[in-house]
Amino acid sequence: MATLGQTIKSLWSMVVGMKVTGIEFFKPKLTVHYPRKEVDNLGTYRGHCDLVAREDDPLTPKCIMCGICVDNCPSGCLSLTMHVVGEGKPRPAGGAGELMLAQEVILPGSIKKAPPTGKAERVLDSFRLNYNYCSLCGLCVQNCPVSSLAWSREAYLVGRSRQEFEFDLLARLRAKAASSQGVKAA
Ligand code: SF4
Ligand code: SF4
Repeated sequence: MATLGQTIKSLWSMVVGMKVTGIEFFKPKLTVHYPRKEVDNLGTYRGHCDLVAREDDPLTPKCIMCGICVDNCPSGCLSLTMHVVGEGKPRPAGGAGELMLAQEVILPGSIKKAPPTGKAERVLDSFRLNYNYCSLCGLCVQNCPVSSLAWSREAYLVGRSRQEFEFDLLARLRAKAASSQGVKAA
């Protein structure tokens, strides 16, 4: 049977606990009632990598199809295909892909020399990310020589199959541009 002293000690411990609860109860809330509400402070959130559009053309990524991101990705989850104008047949970049730069591109380490003239014009046909395997290591974003990759702010991705996490980043960029143009026009 508990003594009077033990009972008082237990009650005091409860009072101390309730004091902490009471103080926390009246503090401003830091969380939101998801999914009814979503947070609006995702400015520094690192979602999957996403293509960045050219300043003068929101439908075209800055990508110069060098293949560095494909080669550097430790998970092998990036792939892209491009074609050379006049050549017709799409081919992959990265791996055995050759580095052919647009004339205006100046790469870090190129001692500010533009590539020789006469290089063929290339067109990006597809740029895919298999997000199922991405470790979010950041090598693709950090090593892109023209800053054509950035973190998305996709914090609420859900899906029922792996296929839903195989992203067509080129289509995403174009859809985003189309929707922002639609908003501007409205
Ligand atoms: S590293 Fe950048 S420029 Fe090169 S293929 Fe990847 S996204 Fe394009
Ligand atoms: S963050 Fe890392 S693992 Fe994910 S796509 Fe980029 S390089 Fe690959």
